[in-house]
Amino acid sequence: MIVSPLDTALMNKNTKYIPYGRQWIDEDDIAEVIKVLRSDYITTGPKVAEFEEAFANYLEVKYAVSFSSGTAALHGAVFSAGLEPGDEAITTPLTFCATANCILYQGGTPVFADVCPDTLNLNPEEVSRRITSKTKLVLPVDYAGHPADLEAIQKIADAHGLIVIEDACHSLGAEYRNIKVGGICRLNVFSFHPVKHITTGEGGMVTTNDSDLARRLRIFRNHGIDRDTQQRKTEGDWFYQMITLGYNYRLTDIGCALGLSQLQKLNANLERRREIAGIYTSVFRQLPGVIVPIVRENINPAWHLYPLRLDLDQLQIGRAEIFRKLHGKNIGVNVHYIPVHLHPYYRQRFGYRGGEYPIAEAAYGQLISLPIFPKMGDDDVKYVIKTVQNIISASRK
Ligand SMILES: *Cc1c(COP(=O)(O)O)cnc(C)c1O
Repeated sequence: MIVSPLDTALMNKNTKYIPYGRQWIDEDDIAEVIKVLRSDYITTGPKVAEFEEAFANYLEVKYAVSFSSGTAALHGAVFSAGLEPGDEAITTPLTFCATANCILYQGGTPVFADVCPDTLNLNPEEVSRRITSKTKLVLPVDYAGHPADLEAIQKIADAHGLIVIEDACHSLGAEYRNIKVGGICRLNVFSFHPVKHITTGEGGMVTTNDSDLARRLRIFRNHGIDRDTQQRKTEGDWFYQMITLGYNYRLTDIGCALGLSQLQKLNANLERRREIAGIYTSVFRQLPGVIVPIVRENINPAWHLYPLRLDLDQLQIGRAEIFRKLHGKNIGVNVHYIPVHLHPYYRQRFGYRGGEYPIAEAAYGQLISLPIFPKMGDDDVKYVIKTVQNIISASRK
């Protein structure tokens, strides 16, 4: 391959570490947080309702209930859907462990179903195969920001009376057939961890169009306490009752002020993520040795991750070595995900030995998440492209 002077300059510019994802906090975000710090309420104050309303409006859904993390939000969603000990919930093995853990929190059993080879999202046919008389929920994950096959999954859920909880932690702003995810499934879960589309430090949200589910979510995140206004009228304003076992999963006013400010920039952030993904795909689809992520028809992904797959048959070295070489060039690639059933806890508790979910396990062996985040500059994108091209070209058989 011909190396131009510009390429050499880019290759040498490897002193700055480029992570796979990171937040973008501006001075105006900081100013909003400072305002709250100087106000009367730093925990549950006016910013909570304001952020929830703005978030619901953005996604065109009726209710948004904030939580202290995406994991707490998943827990709340599983609780409000009514999962009980002994019930089963079907999810993908190719996700962050929190998606499956939230089923365990409520005493349920996570049942994994393998993914589609193209999107690496939950395969509806595999979901069908795993349904038993104990199945209550299905939890698809929009892997990398590409919405799961929601219509097919909903059809199966309807036929068996199951509730669908969409783990949309990767897909804030993604569109499924021109509709934003967040109002499509009965319950939809988001995370505001710093690597996600917008951040509140730690934080999460559940969206729903069902007023009863929204009420259950609010009670669950506040110790199981109900403040029925009618009862307060008769008993007095101090009155409250704990009616179920809940948690303290509240998001603070500090976090919500940051979230509100971040939400203003979400569209610009999404545009930049889509731009970077477009550049990567146009270049890497022509590079033998790698496989680019595909986008199905009528889908507009949110690109939380850019998962490149290695075509290992064409390469002399494995994923681990390519990963090491990229880190050696200060490119903070990551791997999403070690399939959940292969973690020691799941192996020990459920007896998984590997080989149960061949598509997810094979994908895991090939995956490498390239840096993609809105503040990533054009120079950084070029540097990643050149470095990947050089390493892959030098590693081909
Ligand atoms: C980030 C993430 C979560 C958990 O969110 P936290 O806010 O970190 O608790 C859950 N599921 C998926 C798929 C995620 O990417």
